[in-house]
Amino acid sequence: MKRNVFFWTMLCGVIVIGLFGIVQDKNQREGQPESVITEESGALEGLCILVDAGHGGYDGGARAINGGLWEKEYNLRMALQIQSALEAQGAQVIMTRMEDKAFADRKRPDLDARLQMAKDGDADLLLSVHMNQYHDAVESGPQVFYRKNNADSRLLAGCLQAALIGGLQPTRVRSAMAGDYYMLSLPIPSVLIECGFISNPQEAKWLMDADYQKRLAEAVCTGVCEYIRLQQKNRDAQ
Ligand SMILES: [Zn+2]
Repeated sequence: MKRNVFFWTMLCGVIVIGLFGIVQDKNQREGQPESVITEESGALEGLCILVDAGHGGYDGGARAINGGLWEKEYNLRMALQIQSALEAQGAQVIMTRMEDKAFADRKRPDLDARLQMAKDGDADLLLSVHMNQYHDAVESGPQVFYRKNNADSRLLAGCLQAALIGGLQPTRVRSAMAGDYYMLSLPIPSVLIECGFISNPQEAKWLMDADYQKRLAEAVCTGVCEYIRLQQKNRDAQ
């Protein structure tokens, strides 16, 4: 009897170790980190967030390495994933676009139309989704830019940058930085998220992968939740 119990315990152990090995192997094979954080649901209830999929229509943005897809395609897919992640936490999301389009045939009026959507919808936060590009293909990693001289935008960017680093464990760890972007000109906390470099072949591949997009979107959601938590804490302290 005792030998039987011993046998079954050993067998179960071997199976568990085996399964763990398969999971480990899969993650290593794909070279992607595991998803870590899941927020409790409803954390963003009552919050209205504008999610802007950068570029669109005539304006393709940057082009992925080796004549790949235009940035506008990456941005839209990522923005849609970010929308789902934020809505799952109870946020109301305004999307600037859900398809491949521009709002004018020139850059400035196109951006004005997007900013107007944030004003019309009385958005509390603005997240503009982009992909980065650099002449050296080795550059990689997400980076968040915030509205200059705006403490709330800076805090939001810091929370997002930390969550992206925690959730994606990028090889190249970047810091949030102030950015002089027209899209960040509203008086609400506004950030521009450069999700990664489409000039880097490995990262460009990941950024088109639905699992990686979900992981990045979850990290964005975690960052927004952390920002809301810190703002609440600051208010409570006053
Ligand atoms: Zn862009």
